[in-house]
Amino acid sequence: MENHLNLILGLPKVTVREFTMLEDGICLKIKLTNLGTHCPSCKNFTTEINQNRPILVRDLPCFDKVTYLQVPRRQFYCRHCQKYFTEKLPWIEWKRRHTLRYEKNVFERVKSSNIATVALVEGLSYDEVQGIFNHRASNIAEQQWLGVSRISLDEIAMRKGHKNYKAVLCDLDKKKLIEVIDGRTQDCLISKLSEVPLQVTKAVKEVSVDMWHGFPKVIEEIFPNAQIVTDRFHVMKPLIEELKKIAKSSGVKEQKKLSLVWKNRIDLNNEERTELENLLSSSTSKRFKAAYEYKEKFREIYETSKTVLEGKKRFEEWLQKAPKIYGKVIQTISDHLPTICNYFISHSTSGTMEGINNKIKLIKRQGYGFTNFENFRLPLLSAFSSDSL
Ligand SMILES: [Zn+2]
Repeated sequence: MENHLNLILGLPKVTVREFTMLEDGICLKIKLTNLGTHCPSCKNFTTEINQNRPILVRDLPCFDKVTYLQVPRRQFYCRHCQKYFTEKLPWIEWKRRHTLRYEKNVFERVKSSNIATVALVEGLSYDEVQGIFNHRASNIAEQQWLGVSRISLDEIAMRKGHKNYKAVLCDLDKKKLIEVIDGRTQDCLISKLSEVPLQVTKAVKEVSVDMWHGFPKVIEEIFPNAQIVTDRFHVMKPLIEELKKIAKSSGVKEQKKLSLVWKNRIDLNNEERTELENLLSSSTSKRFKAAYEYKEKFREIYETSKTVLEGKKRFEEWLQKAPKIYGKVIQTISDHLPTICNYFISHSTSGTMEGINNKIKLIKRQGYGFTNFENFRLPLLSAFSSDSL
């Protein structure tokens, strides 16, 4: 009988000693079969048990019955160090009152439904399920940083028109969300990112950002070995905005025609290309025509330059010729030129961020009933932990 129960239970070095029916389920009193354990300080093996205080731990249901394990918590004495320590078990995390597999199960179910539903089905309180969820999600949050080498640091407005910004960090290689921070000031970023272990932040080789003047200091402090890259998407954006203004003031007002102007020429189909040529040749504005050509030249430099040096040389030539048309955009680009050219090191862009940002907003709309930032952050990080975009 006991042998079968041991097999069903499937926990290492554990044998079922007694079985009792409870009002709301069953309880398996278990025995640990290992005689001793290694001292965490000196690694010596000890079998000297000082005391044993069993605890009741919730496990996965057995035959659809709520199942508890009565687990011995053994305190050992190490003669070598003359210290007492409590034994750690691989299937229950430190100071938790549920087995690891039970917590993982609850976590996955919350992800696919919600806290209230799981609490109801499991007969647990809302807070307890929330606690399990947050505990697992925090573990995952730490794992998100493992092996990260190139990241993008960006911000998103949670509600249009409301100044509620969150900083969003993504892994550019895995195209995954790494972290969300409640705010986007320099102090806020530095203080939050200081919590990331140094060996992790030191391994970051590249941080891709927009042209906000506050980022370089954050990156230098937190990621000492990283190159700062002014993200291509964020460099093109003001250029295109300016081009749109010039186009509008030259009489191009229709959205459809405007989109022909700002889109990449190589991405247009034949029909669109003809339409664009007509638009340019029929325009009497030299300014508009030149602005268009310079935008395309700029994009071409991005597409075809092979090295930082080549890119820099070509952008500098561009900057010398274009000034009158593009006004203050020129100054902005000049100011950021060294980090703009770092693009040519690995040619990465946070264009993929858009997909991630949309997913963040979607998750927010699905609503877990976020009452505070942490209860928003953890489900978010969990959502990106298993599935990719
Ligand atoms: Zn010891």
